[in-house]
Formats: sequence, structure tokens, C-alpha cells
Amino acid sequence: MFRYLIFAAFIYIAYKIIRSVSVRSIEPPDTARTPIGEDMVKDPNCNTYIPLKSAIVANIKGKSHYFCSKECEKEFKNK
Ligand SMILES: [Zn+2]
Repeated sequence: MFRYLIFAAFIYIAYKIIRSVSVRSIEPPDTARTPIGEDMVKDPNCNTYIPLKSAIVANIKGKSHYFCSKECEKEFKNK
């Protein structure tokens, strides 16, 4: 029974921490334009901005380029 209470308390604390973190992320922080992990990169082929996480990275002539799709990567290389 005692163990169960500790476990329940732990779950409650964890829940509180998760809640406070998610509440903080909802509030508009000073860095609202670039939340963590949401860096935007520009596709040099079609000039659209894509989240860094879902961008295709290609190293062309020693420079890193980010593309929205494999097609854009190919087109850019063929230019
Ligand atoms: Zn593109």
C-alpha cells in the first residue's frame, strides 16, 4: 500500500511538471518566432520555408542546402 502511495505521488508530480511545461509553451515567449526545434530553412529551388526537422539536407559545393523535397534537390543540382 505504501509503495502504491509513493507511486501515485510520483505520477502526480510528473503530471504537474508536464502541465507547467506545456502551459509555459502556450504563453507567448520572447522567442515566439523560433520555438525550439522549429527553425525554418529556405529551399533555394522553390523559395519556400520549411521546418529544419523535415527538410532534406544536401551538401552542394561544400555548402549545406535545405530542400522541401527530393525533386527540388535534383532541380537545384541541375541548374
Ligand atoms: Zn522546394
